[in-house]
Amino acid sequence: MEPTLTTAQLNELRELLLARRAELMAQMQQNRENLAPPSEDEGAVLQRNVAREVDQTLSDIDAADLVRIDHALARMDEGGYGECGECGCAIPFERLRIEPQTQHCVDCKSRWESRQAAR
Ligand SMILES: [Zn+2]
Repeated sequence: MEPTLTTAQLNELRELLLARRAELMAQMQQNRENLAPPSEDEGAVLQRNVAREVDQTLSDIDAADLVRIDHALARMDEGGYGECGECGCAIPFERLRIEPQTQHCVDCKSRWESRQAAR
């Protein structure tokens, strides 16, 4: 398939991915600090456990996002970035700009989402 993204567009998307990656890393670092065992205060234990659960959930989401970003960056180097993983079409630059780590075109994603919703 012909590459449909120009070098300038790819560079812009790479910048976006790297910026998002740095943001996520900072967030995860912050979460890890929140998860670290604090100096013990018996009264605060319950409250902290709730906060910890929320932080853990956020960490999991961040980690999944990070994997997708790394995957996208790897595809930029290896080739194949911007191709839909489902139908193989070229994902439009405008969509990549909004979600540079996406691996699916709008059609496949909405098909997938309606499959999920139908469950
Ligand atoms: Zn597709």
